[in-house]
Amino acid sequence: MKKCNQCGMEKPVGDFYARQAKCKPCIRGNVKKNRDSKKEYYRAYDRARGNRQSPEYVREYREKYPNK
Ligand SMILES: [Zn+2]
Repeated sequence: MKKCNQCGMEKPVGDFYARQAKCKPCIRGNVKKNRDSKKEYYRAYDRARGNRQSPEYVREYREKYPNK
């Protein structure tokens, strides 16, 4: 038996990934949470990038670098 660092429950070693102090359900939950927060991060990043590349910016850029 091994104690999970996150939920604090004693679980069989088979419920843990190798060299992990957290049980599989906890890690799976963390991965999902991470993915969700990353999704939010990328959405915000896309929004910021979209704002920077306004139509005016793109037009200016094309005038400055017509060959690109
Ligand atoms: Zn756990």
